[in-house]
Amino acid sequence: MDVNIQMQHYINGKWTGADSENTRDIINPFNQEVIATVPEGDEKEAKEAIAAARATFDKGVWATTPAAERGEIVRKIAELIQRDKEELAYLESLDTGKTMEESRGDMDDIAGVFRYYADIADKDGGEMIDSPVPNSISQVVREPVGVCGQITPWNYPLLQASWKLAPALAAGNTLVMKPSEITPLTTLKVFELMEEAGVPAGVANLVLGSGATVGAELSTSDDVDLISFTGGIETGKKIMQAASSNVKKLALELGGKNPNVIFADADFDTAVDQALNGVFFHAGQICSAGTRLIVEESIHDKFVEALVERVKNFKLGSGFDEDTQMGPLISAEHLAKVEKYVQKGIEEGATVAIGGKRPEDPELQNGFFFLPTIFTDCTTDMSVVQEEGFGPVITVEKFTTEEEAMKLANDSIYGLSGGVWTNDIAKAQRCAAKMRMGTVWINEFNLYFPHAPWGGFKQSGIGRELGKPGLEEYTETKHIFQNLNPEPINWF
Ligand code: NAD
Repeated sequence: MDVNIQMQHYINGKWTGADSENTRDIINPFNQEVIATVPEGDEKEAKEAIAAARATFDKGVWATTPAAERGEIVRKIAELIQRDKEELAYLESLDTGKTMEESRGDMDDIAGVFRYYADIADKDGGEMIDSPVPNSISQVVREPVGVCGQITPWNYPLLQASWKLAPALAAGNTLVMKPSEITPLTTLKVFELMEEAGVPAGVANLVLGSGATVGAELSTSDDVDLISFTGGIETGKKIMQAASSNVKKLALELGGKNPNVIFADADFDTAVDQALNGVFFHAGQICSAGTRLIVEESIHDKFVEALVERVKNFKLGSGFDEDTQMGPLISAEHLAKVEKYVQKGIEEGATVAIGGKRPEDPELQNGFFFLPTIFTDCTTDMSVVQEEGFGPVITVEKFTTEEEAMKLANDSIYGLSGGVWTNDIAKAQRCAAKMRMGTVWINEFNLYFPHAPWGGFKQSGIGRELGKPGLEEYTETKHIFQNLNPEPINWF
């Protein structure tokens, strides 16, 4: 399949920047081939896009379009994504290295997100509330926030973009999106689809470029009312500081170091399979990866043995080969980071039960591959247990009591997600209540729905995406009071 999409910024309804001298090569992480060359924007393009979004919002073009009509355009985007699913999945696998099966699944999820926000676009028009003043009206209405800056990461490029684009559009905002500079292809394609679906010029703008230039401009600009960011915790902190310049609304989806607690009474084989699936699809580059396994002591040795046996047969390769279970990491830089993280784990005393290095297979030498890795003898103070890592690396800790398991699970600066495996319903519910995380899965891991809010406790973020809260992030709440009495009410 050819890559046949616009390779430009999209500002005020126009594709622009094809003649730019500053360009960036987009690399296939499986073989390091250049798959596309895109213009590299900077503050200049970011300012132009922000100005277009500001002027369009202030004209009221989109905000005053009836919500049901906006919803129909958002629904049309979902239909076009479904129509072009195969091309989008191909672009995502090419750009990120993930398997086609996974990318196809992502595209179905993404279309589902647009459909969900199309459905609820006109369902939260506000309410009348009880007024303490006789003969008066007290209304609560929701309005769009204004101009939204949206910054996305490279691991789920279009999925993360959809969690921002769909609710922002449904709620009547205008926006400027900056995708990760290393994985812009599917976002470019979806901007083509949004144009085809009838999103008016100036409503949705796209600028390609780095975080230090385009991202920083979006975060500091006084003309941006809200910044929605998904990415690493250190970048999140910088954006938080930058956003304080004009007290922007802030939505942050940051990292995770997610515990997966396995009790001895769980269904053993399912828990083993899902403990691996919870980490090794997309090579552990998932904010919600269950990389911190916490296993009851009585089954610990048998559990580790079963994990290792299954991992031995794991097939690494091209995302386009049907039998590939795990693709490469995203970049040379990220591979080096994962290697360093693993090295530190070894130095701190963790034992490599399997993996721990790059594969020796000659066919994988051009890609950024790292072997699926399991560390045992882990303790909670080790950096591999506390830091995100963002690679195919599982750490295993032991516990003897439920209380100890919960103490370990919560011993983290993060609070994004966690899992519990047990056949004791009461225990499962007790644990779910104790786990300080935005999502807890019981006998499941890494399952998302458009209607279920997603986000983190603690340093995993601020705010929620998906579900009704994901739409509310893109609205301001206004109270309107009308006195129907002939005289003003004199409170003083
Ligand atoms: P990153 O923080 O390096 O980059 C994310 C985005 O921020 C990119 O578009 C980048 O260009 C931009 N950026 C970088 N510096 C910036 C700055 N100073 N100002 C503004 N923008 C800037 O993250 P990444 O490496 O692309 O993604 C991996 C991280 O994303 C992991 O930590 C992962 O946990 C997190 N993540 C979280 C979720 C979630 O839902 N919580 C989902 C996916 C990924």
